[in-house]
Amino acid sequence: MTDVPRSQLATWEHCLLGSAAEATTDAVVVTTAELNAPGPEIIYVNPAFCSMTGYSRDELVGQSIRMLYDQKPDPAFFQDLRKTIQSGRSYRGATLKHHKDGTPYLCEVSITPVHDKVADCMRLVSIQRRVEDAWGQDRYLETVFHAAPVGLILVRGDGRIDRVNETAEELFGYSAGELVGREVELLVPDEARAHHRDYRTAYSHQPRARQMGAGRDLEGQRKDGSRFPVEIGLAPLETVERAAVLVSVIDIAERKRQEAEIEFLAFNDPLTGLANRRLCMDRITEAIEGLTDSGQFGALVVIDPDRFQALNDTRGHSRGDQLLCDMAGRLTAFAGPGRLVARVGADEFAVLLDDLGQASDAIRYAERFAQQARDILGAPYSWKQGGYYATVSSGITLLHPEDDTVEDALKRVDLALQDAKREGRNRISVFDPVLQRSAEERARIEHQMPAALANEEFVPYYQPCVDAAGRCVGAEALIRWQHPTHGLISPGSFIPVAEESGLIHAIGESMLRQVCEQVARWALDESLSRLEVSVNVSPKQFRDPDFVHSVKSILDETRVNPHQLCLEVTESLLFDDADEAIARIAALRRMGISFALDDFGTGYSSMAYLKRLPLDLLKIDQSFVREMPADSDATAIVETIIALADNLGLTCIAEGVETEEAWRFLREAECQRFQGYLFSPAIPAEQFERQVAR
Ligand code: C2E
Ligand code: MG
Ligand code: MG
Repeated sequence: MTDVPRSQLATWEHCLLGSAAEATTDAVVVTTAELNAPGPEIIYVNPAFCSMTGYSRDELVGQSIRMLYDQKPDPAFFQDLRKTIQSGRSYRGATLKHHKDGTPYLCEVSITPVHDKVADCMRLVSIQRRVEDAWGQDRYLETVFHAAPVGLILVRGDGRIDRVNETAEELFGYSAGELVGREVELLVPDEARAHHRDYRTAYSHQPRARQMGAGRDLEGQRKDGSRFPVEIGLAPLETVERAAVLVSVIDIAERKRQEAEIEFLAFNDPLTGLANRRLCMDRITEAIEGLTDSGQFGALVVIDPDRFQALNDTRGHSRGDQLLCDMAGRLTAFAGPGRLVARVGADEFAVLLDDLGQASDAIRYAERFAQQARDILGAPYSWKQGGYYATVSSGITLLHPEDDTVEDALKRVDLALQDAKREGRNRISVFDPVLQRSAEERARIEHQMPAALANEEFVPYYQPCVDAAGRCVGAEALIRWQHPTHGLISPGSFIPVAEESGLIHAIGESMLRQVCEQVARWALDESLSRLEVSVNVSPKQFRDPDFVHSVKSILDETRVNPHQLCLEVTESLLFDDADEAIARIAALRRMGISFALDDFGTGYSSMAYLKRLPLDLLKIDQSFVREMPADSDATAIVETIIALADNLGLTCIAEGVETEEAWRFLREAECQRFQGYLFSPAIPAEQFERQVAR
């Protein structure tokens, strides 16, 4: 104890307490009781105190104890301390100090008043370092702090930043030097600072109640002023200066982006970015609720590109996707902001129109909307790989303010769309209850068809085909359903249903077999033996990979002369795979069967297709024939088709000849064959035989 100042160690040198202090491993410091600036003066330090603080006795004794604080201590701390000491009691508490090399450390102090002869009162401070909390000294904790992948900020009780790790520096764009000593609100967006300060004060005044805190939906502010979403955790450090808090900060921008993406995908279509069916249904439900409140009508419009499958098949799925995206873009721009445009099926868009007023206004508005949308979607698409023209069909239904449900509305609008499709391309159809009844009727027909096929209720009728002299040279076989209760049903009401259900293959095969059997029987009769009979083949039936084989086996079975058989096809069978269709026609023609292109003049009537198809006959569609010669356009079209057939070396047939006048005109234009009510409707085989005999 030789280097302790003589003047003040009169008692210490010899007292028991002094020797104990020299020996103990606890750090001990004796100061004056002076609490005012510059603070208590150090009178004595023991060796443990020197090694803990990093200073020598000479550097400490005679100095103010405050040299060991890293900053001006909290005044509340001094008030507490003064009260305790003046009442002669010991003070205990935790405090943060700095080592000589600058690293802070935590320690628990106990301050005891001591009376002696030199001074009225001295303070004996025994300090016990709390190793587990010692930041600066503990290399392990230090490493963890700095290596942590989350931002860590140690905030002192006064709200100033004590230290930050590298991740926090990176997150906020400040260096540690720029942050230490600054208020933590520096890292909070401007407008949230005041609130943050209040929160921090409240938090620090309830040390007991403080738990691990956490917060989401918060924002941090970088040095450059930019912001980012953060999730923070608050861990109170009770042993540090009162109310110090370790704040952990995670940048959750990426997580938020992923969450937003998941949310987006749950309600949107990834290809077009439009709302998906699920969101659409939610919004329709909401709209119906809104209509119930307002008593107004709304409308649902469904838009579907025509021949979309053909585009996919002929020009690839990427073109199909491109069309959908382009249409989605045009439709969204046209519908305007705030209006729901959704992709509700593979190639179906829906637009929700709400609050349209009374029913009649709502229908008018929705129809106008659908017409404009049709024009906009029908404008040419210019793609790098070549342009494209699209048409769309649309269905419309009203949304009723009462008793409507989203399922019913979707069902109705779907029926309207199907109706528009049936009517041909580029149509708009508004749902009305008759549609619903016909849909139910179709469902009933579909249900009954398999039994009807087994009971041989599908039979061919024959419509005579005559030459310019009016002689019967052949017939077109037209299917009829002899329904046990409904009587004779025309193909228009069941062939489309059979095509949809797939029963067309079996029905078509049965027709062909019956016709071939008939032609084979007629071959035995002199007057009927040279007739050429045509049979209609639906595109779906024609595309069946087994088609050629099935025709061949029917020819073999019935031993019919293939030169008496003609198959009627339409252009649409070329849309899927033109090369395959052409190869099939060629194979059947090699067997001796001839081919007619039916309904020419409607559809595409593409010259390119016509040139490629190996055909024998061309049938002018009855819609033109029936209009002529009164309608000059129809007449011009008919003349052109006859000339075209002649140029291509095809026999031309006019169907739908109803008047002598039309027949005369057609003969003058050098059409070669004629079919129509003027000569005969389609009739049963026996009746046909009698008619030919006459
Ligand atoms: P299509 O092949 O164009 O047949 C001509 C249609 O016009 C027939 O109607 C015929 O009865 C009708 N028709 C004939 N002459 C006249 C006339 O002077 N005026 C008017 N207004 N109509 C006339 P149908 O028999 O109702 O057949 C309708 C369509 O059903 C046919 O059109 C054909 O596409 C299809 N179809 C008929 N039979 C079959 C079949 O066995 N298989 C397949 N897949 N489709 C068939
Ligand atoms: Mg036909
Ligand atoms: Mg026809």
